[in-house]
Amino acid sequence: MNIKCRQFIENHFSEMVRDLAALVAIPSVKGEPEAGKPFGEGPAAALDAMLALAEKYGFHTKNHEGYVGTIDLDPSLPTTLGILCHLDVVPAGKSGWKSLPYSLFISGGKMYGRGVIDNKGPAIAVLYAMRAIKETGYPITQNVRLIVGTDEENGSSDIAYYKNKEALPPRVFTPDAEYPLINIEKGRIRGEFSTYSGFAVGNRSILSAAGGTVFNAVPESAYAIVCGFDEEELRTASLAFPKLGFEFTKEADGCTKITAKGVSAHASQPERGVNAVTGLCAYLGSLTTDDETARSFSRVSSAFPFGDNNGAGLGVAESDEESGALTAVFSILEYRDGVINGKFDCRFPVSDTAENLRQKYVSCFAKFGIRVTDTQCVEGHKVDADTDFVKTLLHIYGKTASGIAKPIAIGGGTYVHDIEGGVAFGAEFPGEVNNMHGANECFSLASFKKNTCIFTEAIEELCK
Ligand SMILES: [Zn+2]
Repeated sequence: MNIKCRQFIENHFSEMVRDLAALVAIPSVKGEPEAGKPFGEGPAAALDAMLALAEKYGFHTKNHEGYVGTIDLDPSLPTTLGILCHLDVVPAGKSGWKSLPYSLFISGGKMYGRGVIDNKGPAIAVLYAMRAIKETGYPITQNVRLIVGTDEENGSSDIAYYKNKEALPPRVFTPDAEYPLINIEKGRIRGEFSTYSGFAVGNRSILSAAGGTVFNAVPESAYAIVCGFDEEELRTASLAFPKLGFEFTKEADGCTKITAKGVSAHASQPERGVNAVTGLCAYLGSLTTDDETARSFSRVSSAFPFGDNNGAGLGVAESDEESGALTAVFSILEYRDGVINGKFDCRFPVSDTAENLRQKYVSCFAKFGIRVTDTQCVEGHKVDADTDFVKTLLHIYGKTASGIAKPIAIGGGTYVHDIEGGVAFGAEFPGEVNNMHGANECFSLASFKKNTCIFTEAIEELCK
């Protein structure tokens, strides 16, 4: 990295922190839309503040109807690099903060506040990288455009709007994830299924069951109401599932409520959790009822066996070298009135297509007498690791890190999922704790500076 640029960052570091503090002070949580403010007051105010800062530092800026703002280093040059950040934040939440969430607080070398890492801090870091290039007169022949969005946390309709309006630069990175660099994001299917279970007509029967709350998480809790069983028998059956916690509560009319407790995890990393819904289905399927209900749960459990996170039971398992294995999570269960309804979240390798896999799901489920009732599909995202763009970024990061920097594949989606050629690069260093989306979100001063240096060097190299 150019020595003058490094000095510029050192000399302006307290100013950077001050500018970030001003942005953090704006609670840019999504609100009610107004004219020119598609995501409400907060995100619009943060966008205005960011563009005002950029203008003060002599950059060419544009507000695209409140969806995104663009900041150009030198608009007279061809724009070949885009850096994408977002200024909206998730709500602060009610409890757990040791400082005020919308007031930057520094303690023990860390900055605390909502948005410091996700994603206002990285946005300021990019702005200062551009300032360093501009104010030291570092020679570039291509323009870099900082694109600041305002709807990343609620579906990225900001980028969809901007893409419709203007062509994105051929190379885009977003420091809205982690280092070293993410070049592969799996595809996703969210599906719903349904199967007739038979009405609970026996003296020993499963009356109702439910578990899970959202599509994209391994459910940590599920329950069922059964009747005609004594508690001892139910307890003994639970011994076959040592990974789950069980609670048995007596209900009226000789019924018992069974609650299964597992461990929650993000659906893109199901191996980190213990699925209470598939556990409960396997448990219910192991009971003997004098109607069809237990056999129906056994059937569902064969399609989604407890402990199977890869679609093996169903027959959709697949993997490729660059993305790893498909994951499939049965995340929401609802059983009543003779019907078992389920929702699942699947992340699949980039070598497959959503439509191909959707059809596979339909036919595999059919073998278990289960009907797919709805699917929502998102294709995977991949950028070739062998491009100069990816290699340059990895090389720059690698100089600051110990060990070899290799690109990574993830099951989740980043801000560039729908941007061709886009990669995620930063801002989180491996092993760093930042409490993103939680209380006491933080970003260390050292990492803030280190990110600024990395972005500066990226512009020097990619725009020279
Ligand atoms: Zn973010």
